[in-house]
Amino acid sequence: MHQRIQATFVATAITLLLLALPCAAQISLVQDGEARAAIVIANTPTDTARYAAEELAQHVERATGIALEIVAESEAPLELHTRVYIGDTETGQRNGIDTVRLPREAYIMRSVGNDLFIAGREGNGDPLSESNPNAGTLFGVYEFLEHFLGVRWLWPGELGTYAPKTDTVELWAVNDMRAPALAFRGLYLSRIQSVINGGTISQEDARLGFSPEGAAAYGKALKILLRRHRMGGVDIKPPSGHLFYGWWKRYGKEHPEWFALRKDGTRGHPDPNYNNTPMCVSNEALQDFVIAQWDGESVLLLGPVDRPGRCICDNCRAWDGPQPENPPWFATYVYGADPRSQELFGGATSDRYARFWKVMREKAAKRNPHAIVSASFIYENELPAPVLKINLGKNIYGEFVQWQDPHLRYFPMPDEAVEWLKAQWLGWRKTGIRLGYRPNYLHDGYVMPHFETKQEGGFFKFAYEHGMEGARFDSLTGQWAAQGPRLYPLVA
Ligand SMILES: [Zn+2]
Repeated sequence: MHQRIQATFVATAITLLLLALPCAAQISLVQDGEARAAIVIANTPTDTARYAAEELAQHVERATGIALEIVAESEAPLELHTRVYIGDTETGQRNGIDTVRLPREAYIMRSVGNDLFIAGREGNGDPLSESNPNAGTLFGVYEFLEHFLGVRWLWPGELGTYAPKTDTVELWAVNDMRAPALAFRGLYLSRIQSVINGGTISQEDARLGFSPEGAAAYGKALKILLRRHRMGGVDIKPPSGHLFYGWWKRYGKEHPEWFALRKDGTRGHPDPNYNNTPMCVSNEALQDFVIAQWDGESVLLLGPVDRPGRCICDNCRAWDGPQPENPPWFATYVYGADPRSQELFGGATSDRYARFWKVMREKAAKRNPHAIVSASFIYENELPAPVLKINLGKNIYGEFVQWQDPHLRYFPMPDEAVEWLKAQWLGWRKTGIRLGYRPNYLHDGYVMPHFETKQEGGFFKFAYEHGMEGARFDSLTGQWAAQGPRLYPLVA
């Protein structure tokens, strides 16, 4: 079958006209099953440029059966119709492909005569690392493969890679420059992360059928897949985490007053080893201790413990805003009905914590005026937007996690719950805080296909349109058979 892939960024009418004419395309990689181009990289290419060239060659071969040669710039074959320059090259520089001033992870894709240039800002670094900002060249190649060859990466490995068969890959003039729309993009990888980091598979996972070799191969394929979907920016994502986890065990004996007052009049938790004991955040000695422990340079982490329920002391309660008289039926846990918060204050403590973060930022600024505070997670008792007016500003960062009430955790949820969540996002945004999105909802649907895209896609788009800096999902659990159809639109 003779199929032509032709595309252009010129107006549609011109494209249609050109498609109707039997003249030669400007850029020709493969024509009627014959190689018409070589892939050209610098004489001393970066790892990223080399890897990007290999990715291009591999996918063109998969689609056409033709293996294009990868050559060094000094040996670029001038007799061929087209040269596809990948990464920073002298020829590119001579032709005005200026990568130095490009934003991080951005690329230029531009035709000059019959040649094509795909290049981003380059540097040392592992092309597969999501913390490597010099990935523009690689991302440009992926854009090319998706746009001009129709390649799709559905799940990890060969079987999930789809490249439509063709005997011709040609296109007209192209001139594009693009950077990722979100500063950071990612999925936490759950238990396979330790294997990717060089660890071994857990006994439990091994019992489920993963051999150590199989787990390592899966981890590698997963990294490749996620990079093909342009996951990255992890190096500029402010950290988040449960700072106060384990503090009761460490400091509870000496400083019980730093910990939450309970309804029975005691501080902390009956179990001296209980790790998720909440703090008494209005306690100034605690605040000063946190500042004294901080190195003065890195992001100051302030994430609460991973359990609902907060301190009931008068000082903390004085920082809280008014509670709703009639909480929405789908958010009763958030406002106090969560069984896990019954010994503590279970209502909304967003105003209390917003004030805590602001106070801590002011204290931190005395040591370092550029200090960034990470509130970590905006969820559980802090999920509702603050009621009282407060300006948090751009030195405080938080990650929105829809959680707590069963109706707020997973999609699909009642439409009015989605609308409520959007209102909380907007309310937090009004404080001026920097917002990331860190949903937990991929923890559902392990065994049964659980297929919802409309609400989750809608909320993601809403967040993007209302100040979301980036998103990192918790977690990719690896249940591709059950979750694949929904993961694809999410990462693509
Ligand atoms: Zn307190």
